[in-house]
Amino acid sequence: MELPISMPGLGHVNCYALMDRDGATLVDPGLPTASSFAALKKRLAQSGLSVKDCHTVLVTHSHPDHFGGASRVLEESNGKLIAHNSFSLGMGGVEKPEVSVNDLHAHEDSEAGRSPGSEADRARARAPFTPAPGSYSGRTPWGGEKPRPPFKMRMRWRLMRTLGKAMRFPTITHPTLGGDVLQLAGREFFVVHTPGHTEDHICLHDPAEEIFLAGDHVLPSITPHISGLSLEADPLKAFFDSLDRAAAIEHVSQVLPAHGHPFSDLAARCEAIKDHHDDRLDEVRLIAKELGPSTVEAFMKRLFKERSWGGMAESETYAHLEHLRLMGSADRHDGEGDQYIYTL
Ligand SMILES: [Zn+2]
Ligand SMILES: [Zn+2]
Repeated sequence: MELPISMPGLGHVNCYALMDRDGATLVDPGLPTASSFAALKKRLAQSGLSVKDCHTVLVTHSHPDHFGGASRVLEESNGKLIAHNSFSLGMGGVEKPEVSVNDLHAHEDSEAGRSPGSEADRARARAPFTPAPGSYSGRTPWGGEKPRPPFKMRMRWRLMRTLGKAMRFPTITHPTLGGDVLQLAGREFFVVHTPGHTEDHICLHDPAEEIFLAGDHVLPSITPHISGLSLEADPLKAFFDSLDRAAAIEHVSQVLPAHGHPFSDLAARCEAIKDHHDDRLDEVRLIAKELGPSTVEAFMKRLFKERSWGGMAESETYAHLEHLRLMGSADRHDGEGDQYIYTL
C-alpha cells in the first residue's frame, strides 16, 4: 500500500499488510498524518479489511514515515507493536530508552550467536518500553548544527501537536532481536538485524516463499541516508556489514522495499550500494588532496551540490570521514572552536 509522505526526494512509503486468519500485520504504517491514515484505510478496505483488523504493527526502524502511523492504528485495533529492542527516537545518537543500556549487550550476544546470560537478561531484552523523543538542538560532535528535518515538516509536526494530534510514541509491546522467528501471515519470518541506516533497523525474511521485506536497508533506486550521529563508532562500516549480511541470505526471489518498486536480485543491489559508497569514499580522498586539512563542513560543500548543503549532508560526510579515520586512512584533530579537522 503506497502511503503519501512528503520528504525530500520521497513521495511515498510502502506499507505492507501480511494477512492471516485473524486479520493483518502492518509493516511500516506511514506518517502520523490524516492524509496517510485516510490512504491506509482506503487501501485496507480494498482488501476487505479495516484498521480494527490490524492486530499487529511491525516497524522496520525508527523513522517517522515508518512508525509514525503506528499509534493511530493501534489505538483502534488494540494490537501489538513489534520493533527491534534497540528502537530509539534519539536524533542525537545518545538518547536511548533506559531499558536499552542492558539490552544493547544482550542483543550483541544474541547477534553473535550467543544467548543472553540468564533468563532475567532474556526477559529484560524483551520487556516492553516506550521510546522518548530526542532533542533537535545543540551541537554535533564535529562542530556543526545538528541535522534537523526540513522546515516544512517541523512546522507540520508542531501544528499537529497543537491540534492534539501529536505523533504519539507508542509502546513497543514486543521488542525483537536478530535471529528471532515471527509468525506473520501464517508463515515463519526471520528477523535480520541490519544496523547502518539506523541502529535499530530490521528486515524480515521468509525463506519458504523467498520474500525479503527490506525496509530502508536495501532500496531499488536510492541509497539510504547514513547518519554520522550514531551510537555506532563507524555507522558506514555497520551498514557495509549489514549489506553483506543481506547479500549472503539464500532463498530470496522477491525483495519488498519501503520506497520504490519490488525487485528480485538482493545480492546485486547490495553490491551496487556498496560500490556507490566506495565511490563516495574515493571522492573524499580526492577532495582531501585538493583542500588539505579541512573541516567536515568544507568536505561537505565539495561532496554535495549547493542545494543539498546543511546538517544532513554534514552528517553523512562525517560518517564517511570517520569510516576513513577508523580504517586508518585519515587523521582527526581539534581545530578552532569546536570544529574537527580531517587530514587524509
Ligand atoms: Zn529510514
Ligand atoms: Zn524510509
